[in-house]
Amino acid sequence: MRLVLLGCPGVGKGTQAEGISKSFKIAHISTGNILRDEIKKNTYLGRKVENLVKKGNLVSDEIIIELIKNEISKHESSNGFVMDGFPRNLKQAKMFQDILDMLNLKLDKVVNIFVEKDEIIRRLSSRMVCSNCNSVYSIDDLKNMPDTKCSVCGGKLYKRKDDEKNIIEKRLELYETETRPLIDYYSKQNLLIDIDGSGSEDKVTERVLSKL
Ligand code: AMP
Repeated sequence: MRLVLLGCPGVGKGTQAEGISKSFKIAHISTGNILRDEIKKNTYLGRKVENLVKKGNLVSDEIIIELIKNEISKHESSNGFVMDGFPRNLKQAKMFQDILDMLNLKLDKVVNIFVEKDEIIRRLSSRMVCSNCNSVYSIDDLKNMPDTKCSVCGGKLYKRKDDEKNIIEKRLELYETETRPLIDYYSKQNLLIDIDGSGSEDKVTERVLSKL
């Protein structure tokens, strides 16, 4: 199965992609996680993209496409993939289509998750992320946990630099201008499934899995 997850920052793509990847035993490819990992490891690529990522700007399409080619070939022998955070604009979507055509592969579905803007801002401002496995928590979850370590792997939780208020606004604007047009693009190809992303993670997962 080959899937793309669409939706603005904070809509729950990462969490849902992880659930889908486990259910269908397919690779979870998150361009954001890959870039944050490169930054953490202080690689050449990490140093090149650090400022852009921390300020909520998009990294160049060329860099992202190289990453994607690499990831697809790395997971060639698996049952497919779920893309999380890619494509981010029409140019990336078209380049992605070229890569798939070249490999004789087809996308099965594009899952578009939507949540009200107020709820998105609330989620992003209270979000904490595991520095090791990228699991996502909200400050409310932490109140019910014995310590502030990741309950999956024990990793340290941190607040992403791009989850600060002024950066959140910029990322949401970029979503509107750059990424939202992809809804129409994939809808015209009859690939789009719309999912209400409100409520608990489990409820959203149930909705997603019932449509796949
Ligand atoms: P995310 O974790 O998907 O919110 O991505 C975090 C940041 O990584 C974004 O704000 C961008 O700076 C960068 N990024 C991730 N995916 C892409 C992409 N497909 N195109 C350009 N920049 C990206």
